[in-house]
Amino acid sequence: MALVNIHFLNLQNNYLFADIAKKVNAFKVMHPKADVISLGIGDVTQPLAPAVVEAMHKAAHEMGTLKGFRGYGPEQGYDFLREAILKNDFLPRGIHLDVSEVFINDGAKSDTGNFQELLHWDNFIGVTDPIYPVYIDSNVMIGRCGNFRDGRWTNVRYLPTTAENGFIPELPKGRPVDVIYLCYPNNPTGTVITKPELRKWVNYALKNDALILYDAAYQAYIRDPEIPHSIYEIRGARKCAVEFHSFSKTAGFTGVRCGYTIVPKEVSVSTFEGERIPLNQLWLRRQCTKFNGTSYISQRAAEAIYSPEGKQQIKATIDYYMENAHRMLTRLRAIGYECYGGENAPYIWMRTPDGMDSWSFFEALLYGANVVCTPGVGFGPSGEGYVRFTAFGSHERTAEALDRITRWSKGEQLV
Ligand SMILES: *Cc1c(COP(=O)(O)O)cnc(C)c1O
Repeated sequence: MALVNIHFLNLQNNYLFADIAKKVNAFKVMHPKADVISLGIGDVTQPLAPAVVEAMHKAAHEMGTLKGFRGYGPEQGYDFLREAILKNDFLPRGIHLDVSEVFINDGAKSDTGNFQELLHWDNFIGVTDPIYPVYIDSNVMIGRCGNFRDGRWTNVRYLPTTAENGFIPELPKGRPVDVIYLCYPNNPTGTVITKPELRKWVNYALKNDALILYDAAYQAYIRDPEIPHSIYEIRGARKCAVEFHSFSKTAGFTGVRCGYTIVPKEVSVSTFEGERIPLNQLWLRRQCTKFNGTSYISQRAAEAIYSPEGKQQIKATIDYYMENAHRMLTRLRAIGYECYGGENAPYIWMRTPDGMDSWSFFEALLYGANVVCTPGVGFGPSGEGYVRFTAFGSHERTAEALDRITRWSKGEQLV
């Protein structure tokens, strides 16, 4: 008899974006002529950089020749990309890593979800709350999170980040956590962490022999020169942290699929007997068994973002989105809404007015202004009372959405 992994049955059925789509579709069925603008799901909209497209053409052409054809590549990725990453994303910040510490992936979602496989099932995990749902759900699937009660998993330490604490999570009190997920700049709040605050986490991890899984998917959006782009800017982090990167938000690769994970040689975890096991070797072993590499064409595409033209072009697109973020912050604040994020990240995190709950505000905005946002509670219990807006739209559609929200907030009928 084939038995099911019952942990999958514990997963909460509602996948946030499926729930939103259902509600938006119901609205569209009732209002077929309505022009709905989505500032909801976190996907990019602007086309790939010309340098990237050119690199993909060239790589595709090579693959069509006897001499240039490539089959399976190295599971960890091609050295041309790993070296470009070290030279451009780390060396300028004084971080010296070896190519063997870089693992090319097919996007950060897979690796942020899979990395927990290397860890004993009863490690105690901590997450800042609200958070990208992949971290918790991937741990639920292996049975690490306990039961779901009152909107929370019983074996997860939630570390609230809200307006009340300035979106600065406190270090866990009481039972220490073994594994900590941090995501900065943060999805969904759009807030960042300073070096002194990040240093507290590194010191916590070193002191408690904990592992930090650091998601830096939005580091390219950082404007403030004081904000760290990588946890390895903090001394000691290479002993206790693994870092995930993605080209999805950096260069519009959500459909191309490529990113990378840094697993330093020094980072290790313990057996019950106290033997130290380096995670670099373990992750390599895992990848060689379960992953056959990211496509050559995607890796050449990623390499192209580090060329002089590529750098300029992806910067222009990021600037374009950040212009949206700036306009959103200005206009929403002018209405009187309390907004956070949006300065070093493409997300605006807005407190709902008059103590409305996230879903009520979502529906009111959809029906009143025909604009879609994301209910904050979908990212965790501390997201209740907030909604997220993304800056990934076009300037025109974003401006139109802001006009509508402004008119709607004044009680005007839009249609
Ligand atoms: C978008 C996103 C990623 C990247 O996902 P990909 O699989 O690389 O497309 C990773 N982490 C967070 C928090 C994200 O929002």
